[in-house]
Amino acid sequence: MTGKLVIVGTGPGNPDQMTPQALAAIGAGEQFFGYGPYLDRLELRPDQTRVASDNRQEIDRARAALDAASKGSSVCVVSGGDPGVFAMAAAICEAMETGPETWRRLDITVLPGVTAMLAVAARAGAPLGHDFCAISLSDNLKPWELIERRLRAVAQAGLVIALYNPISRARPWQLATAFKILREVLPVSTPVIFGRAVGRPDERFAVVSLGEADGQPADMATCVIIGSAETRIIARPGLDPLVYSPRGVEI
Ligand code: SAH
Repeated sequence: MTGKLVIVGTGPGNPDQMTPQALAAIGAGEQFFGYGPYLDRLELRPDQTRVASDNRQEIDRARAALDAASKGSSVCVVSGGDPGVFAMAAAICEAMETGPETWRRLDITVLPGVTAMLAVAARAGAPLGHDFCAISLSDNLKPWELIERRLRAVAQAGLVIALYNPISRARPWQLATAFKILREVLPVSTPVIFGRAVGRPDERFAVVSLGEADGQPADMATCVIIGSAETRIIARPGLDPLVYSPRGVEI
């Protein structure tokens, strides 16, 4: 029997920001694979089983999920935000490419979700209103030199930058180093947005300038958006400022 595998994005954390399509897929799933805290956010029924794993065991989790689906189960692999952004959809593809032929015959669906940078951008105004990019600061899967090269290149190209995985206990210095590199290319007045746990009760939000930005306000649940030289702040008395990136420079 061939099962089904759905890779679901659950959004940034607020249940209202989960798509109806994702909710329906979760209702129909039998076996759930994912990082424990993401699974904890779902309201699963007693007949639905959970296989929680550590957030660094993505390939092992992908293989286990594919194996369960190939045995006929209806499997849901859960990612926070969007499953295709620094998350499980790529891990499933990677496991399939190197795995047994039978996995290629599985019914596989990827259901998108609201990714962290979109939730943070919406909270701030419109910092991603024009050209932008997303970079993970985690050097677990790529060398730090490559991250530095990409940061310089995209800042020079005028892209707004959304940084995922900005900091962790094992990676305490990378974010401050990234700000230092960006200060070599961008004006010190460039807006920097820290959006933490956006959409959840423990949300924190701050806007500072690149000149004063350091790694301090960020943790593992923070997405940092660094503007381009065009990005502006609209101050509003007694309210959070609006940050927006206007139309690109006309050539
Ligand atoms: N697939 C996820 C990203 C996983 S990488 C997505 O599409 O959002 C994990 C990183 O996502 C965190 O280190 C943080 O940078 C960011 N992140 C996830 N949820 C967030 C939230 N609610 N608010 C701010 N950043 C978040």
